[in-house]
Amino acid sequence: MSLVDMPVCDYCGKNSTQVKRMVAGAGNEKHICGDCIRKCNAILTEDALVEGSRMAGRKVIPFAKPFGGPHAA
Ligand SMILES: [Zn+2]
Repeated sequence: MSLVDMPVCDYCGKNSTQVKRMVAGAGNEKHICGDCIRKCNAILTEDALVEGSRMAGRKVIPFAKPFGGPHAA
């Protein structure tokens, strides 16, 4: 495999010799490296924690329709 054919992470630009893991996407045209997957995973984990604490502490507030509105006569 030549350097030109070497998969490159579409997120950080590292090639497969610079990272431990390279994962190909649809059609083998897009790639993401293990480092970027770890970063994405950390972001998603953080989102899940924030969402979880929000759901636990939040009362359900009904969406109040504004008086009048676009369909009001
Ligand atoms: Zn990457």
